[in-house]
Amino acid sequence: MPHMREEGESEKNVLDRLDSYHVRDIPYDKVLNSMCTHPHHIAIKAHEQFIETNMGDGGLFPGTYDLEQEVITMLGQLLGNSDVCGYITTGGTESNIQAIHAARNSRKSKKPNIVVSGSAHFSFDKIADLLNIDVRKAEQDDQFKIDLNDVESKIDNNTVALVGIAGTTEFGQIDPIRELSDLAIEKDIFLHVDAAFGAFVIPFLDMEYEFDFNLPGVSSITADPHKMGLCTIPAGGLLFKDQYYLEVLQTKTPYLTIDSQYSLTGTRCGAVTAAAYAVMKHLGQDGYRQYVQYCMKLTRRIIERTREFGVEPVIEPVMNIVVLDVGDTDVVKKALEKKGWYTSVTRNPKALRLVIMPHLTETKVEEFLYDLEKICK
Ligand code: PLP
Repeated sequence: MPHMREEGESEKNVLDRLDSYHVRDIPYDKVLNSMCTHPHHIAIKAHEQFIETNMGDGGLFPGTYDLEQEVITMLGQLLGNSDVCGYITTGGTESNIQAIHAARNSRKSKKPNIVVSGSAHFSFDKIADLLNIDVRKAEQDDQFKIDLNDVESKIDNNTVALVGIAGTTEFGQIDPIRELSDLAIEKDIFLHVDAAFGAFVIPFLDMEYEFDFNLPGVSSITADPHKMGLCTIPAGGLLFKDQYYLEVLQTKTPYLTIDSQYSLTGTRCGAVTAAAYAVMKHLGQDGYRQYVQYCMKLTRRIIERTREFGVEPVIEPVMNIVVLDVGDTDVVKKALEKKGWYTSVTRNPKALRLVIMPHLTETKVEEFLYDLEKICK
């Protein structure tokens, strides 16, 4: 019954009933459309250890607050500058909102706009709504990277930020961040890099890409531990090159142990900070590299096999996201779903999108390819 009774129930009854809900959730082993995955076991342990902590009132949790600073420094080191500031958010959406919020607050424009790629994550549509900002969507080239000429043509005196994406949600593509950085410097505009997915992938690829604070024009980065960082949910990372951008986000907080907050949410989970710390320290860069290399091996296997039965990728995968031209995408997606496989569809062009996360085993990938071949034939 969906109401709270007058008298409580036994713990066993309640937990058994919870199980009956949980078993209806889709296990990750056949999920090819999620950017989240099983958290690493050390992340779960650390999460439990810090389960009661609230970063919304940092004065009560000075230990966890210091841990958060260390996590931000580690994220900064990974992304080219250990001297960054920021905080652990609820995910890529909050990080993107707050990055643009900071850019907007730092420029006094009556009709602010930002320029992003047409392939930007839908969090930028929420930003348009919440922050009352004109979000200008730039064209993409034939490799689904942002078109720099179109970006330039969309910039005006009210442009408060440019956004580059390092690991686009749909294609896993990396925008030309070096050129965006040059443009941002030339025009004196804030540059945000959305590396929600890419931050824990790009540094560990065989190919090298310029996308982070090593580029002088990059002002902020979104980097999510709860995606390829193997952390518990909800753990996003927001990093600023300059302390000033945290300051312009501050709200006074009377009756707390701290004077002000720069986060979007008030009460804030400290357990994910501990989880992110634990998994980053435990895996180290070598550990993450192994996960990424494993996902890339599966990615290459998928392309090699689908080519054998006549299905081509829409672009050569840059990271562990595969987009396949399967003909009638909706029909193929439905047929796969009947076999228990969860996939998704890109918008333009419409194609089958697969995210190759660490929860996929080689055996499962072979089973998937077997089903896909039969469906496509
Ligand atoms: N940015 C990018 C590039 C993403 O791929 C995603 C999610 O897929 C987000 C932002 C939003 O992240 P979240 O769902 O954690 O809010």
